[in-house]
Amino acid sequence: MKVLFAASEAYPLVKTGGLADVAGALPVALAESGTRVRLILPAYPEVLGRATDIATVAELPGLLAGHDVRLLSARTPDNDLPLLLVDSPTLFDRAGGPYTDDHGVDWPDNHLRFGVFSLAAAWVAAGAAGEAWRADILHANDWQTGLAPTYLRFIGAPNTRSVFTIHNMRYQGLYPSTVMTELELPRFTFTMEGIEFHGQVSMLKAGLAFADRIVTVSPTYADEILLPQFGYGMEGLLNARRRDLTGILNGIDETAWNPRTDRHLPAHYDAGDLSGKAICKAALQQELGLTQDPDAPLLTMVTRLTEQKGIDLIVSAIPDIIDMGAQIAVLGAGEPHWEHALRTLQAPPGRTAARIGYDEALAHRLIAGADMFLMPSRFEPCGLTQMYAMRYGTLPVANRTGGLADTVTQVQISPGGNGASGTGFVFDMTKPGALVGALQDGNALYKNQPAWRDVQLEAMQRDFSWAGAADDYGWIYRTLAPHALTGSAKLSGEAA
Ligand code: ADP
Repeated sequence: MKVLFAASEAYPLVKTGGLADVAGALPVALAESGTRVRLILPAYPEVLGRATDIATVAELPGLLAGHDVRLLSARTPDNDLPLLLVDSPTLFDRAGGPYTDDHGVDWPDNHLRFGVFSLAAAWVAAGAAGEAWRADILHANDWQTGLAPTYLRFIGAPNTRSVFTIHNMRYQGLYPSTVMTELELPRFTFTMEGIEFHGQVSMLKAGLAFADRIVTVSPTYADEILLPQFGYGMEGLLNARRRDLTGILNGIDETAWNPRTDRHLPAHYDAGDLSGKAICKAALQQELGLTQDPDAPLLTMVTRLTEQKGIDLIVSAIPDIIDMGAQIAVLGAGEPHWEHALRTLQAPPGRTAARIGYDEALAHRLIAGADMFLMPSRFEPCGLTQMYAMRYGTLPVANRTGGLADTVTQVQISPGGNGASGTGFVFDMTKPGALVGALQDGNALYKNQPAWRDVQLEAMQRDFSWAGAADDYGWIYRTLAPHALTGSAKLSGEAA
């Protein structure tokens, strides 16, 4: 079974959010379970700088508006995963992020950048770069590669099927209908059942309409996106394709996120000995200018600053948090309004800290050094940070939605109050005061240290490995491409 896994970012080569974590880890887990996976990425400068063993394998000239693509093979620096890079310097060799310039403004030609990337991935999967690179499955992810299944359908690839994973329905890759010509999309695809969305082209909808199977990143989110509240107007199409839609919970990278070995921490610990966690907490309080108090519950949040993540609810709850005697620290980057609100927080000294920006190392220290981790997301397709937090013995306070509902188990105090089970504090955002109620529950449990320890240990021992997800994806691949198993489609001359 040969899979071409297409994504617009992958850790540790280039990352803006959870998609990168998934694209960095799932292909590795798939490879470990016997699937032959190649990860295909745009050749951004940071990717070219970090990948190893780079070599040219093919030229794909004149893709969309005459863009020439050089296809490069390479390896990831840490785990030697085979990579293919779509090198088109006019599109990808730019200073800034994968989607935006240095000022955070979207590149005006993102439709073309990701159109070319998607078309290149489809051609490679179909065998245009040589039989050695052909794939049985083209696995696309989110709107940036939403056109890949569409192109695959129309270039004709009888032995290649497509899977499309939705990591977030909120980002839809919407462009004016005039881009149809530039993207060389057949006119007849511009319908309500196809890629048209309220008069525009939606690259996300293209993936939903034309992929052979659709996956999203948790079972609860797979149910939620069938509803108007979470489907962003695409729930009709999703309901029509319900039988092709599956929810598969993401795992976490247990090497990068391991409190026993984490290179970003001042001390290490595990479920058998939590003394290193107290050192992490004290060091974090010092680093952030918080009062050195081992007994004050420390609440942290690491997030993109968007409405989705509920940062507004946290800012409103700060007086309650302070009243409880707790401390709070937030690391985030995103909407300027929320960056400003965090920079100008009014609070007694030593009780709150805010750091604006993207800081991988500080994210690890905030998750390890905290007692509770805040995730009041309005919706959360899967969410990774609550799983990282549990692994680090930091109890999530999370809204019951999407992957949060699937991963955090509400704490139950045992009769008599001398023990507890569960892994965190789950609340229902639609109920007024529910977040503050959950924080108060957390605060009360924190005062009962033996019961707190029970819950910490249960959280730390949860299995969030990728193996289960890799099995489920493997099953989908096999049902879609049984020919790949019989040997009838086996290729000779396959490159290593
Ligand atoms: P999303 O993909 O919606 O942003 P996830 O919880 O799935 O949310 O993944 C977010 C990832 O990005 C996690 O690895 C988290 O640690 C990281 N992250 C988010 N914001 C920051 C930040 N400001 N600094 C460092 N890492 C961050």
